[in-house]
Amino acid sequence: MQRERILIVEDEPAVARGLEYALKAEGYKVFWAKSGAEALELTRREQPDLITLDIRLPDLSGYDVCRALRSQNHRQPILMLTAKDEELDKVLGLELGADDYMVKPYGLRELVSRIRALLRRAYGDLAAPSEDEIQRFEGLEIDLTRLEVRLDGAAVDLTPTEFRLLRYLSARQNVPVSRSSLVEAVWGYESDVNSDRTVDVHIRHLRQKIESDPAKPTRIVTVRGIGYKFQGQ
Ligand code: CA
Repeated sequence: MQRERILIVEDEPAVARGLEYALKAEGYKVFWAKSGAEALELTRREQPDLITLDIRLPDLSGYDVCRALRSQNHRQPILMLTAKDEELDKVLGLELGADDYMVKPYGLRELVSRIRALLRRAYGDLAAPSEDEIQRFEGLEIDLTRLEVRLDGAAVDLTPTEFRLLRYLSARQNVPVSRSSLVEAVWGYESDVNSDRTVDVHIRHLRQKIESDPAKPTRIVTVRGIGYKFQGQ
């Protein structure tokens, strides 16, 4: 198999070198961008399979870079590296479309396992389903072949993560699914305290897109003390 290519976007050389060393040791091909402008340029030129993105950069912020990449239709997984936990909402925010995040300081081993999981679910055994079918619920259609969701006939713009989350829940309609099962199935790694919050943020976004009243959800309902449940009719 061809070596997967990872772009590190990080302005601090020491941090970048540490990351590069750890990723090369795992057999990845690594590129390094020191600024937001370089990140955009290298992504265009090298088409990396995954991007790790620092938020504090000398020119553009990591948020700007993420938004710009998505608006240019670069769909590869983006792992945001943030300094503070409070940035979670923004990092996984609707208009940004990052796939996952880690808070500094992070362990290199954990970072590598996150990267491996992101690559696996984007390109490997957790990638697009082969089912040739459309799931239909009142007003909501989930097209598993074309990976599209329609609400009352109109296309809903879901991120790949939101789509996988919805697909996993809707395949188990009326069955409560725990946050940790969702993390393992959708993100591909073992859950921890932070990843439970990641699930909650993505569920909130999903509700904003598919519920008529996101404050009173009727499709994806909260199951107290457990997680969530897709409510079929
Ligand atoms: Ca920085």
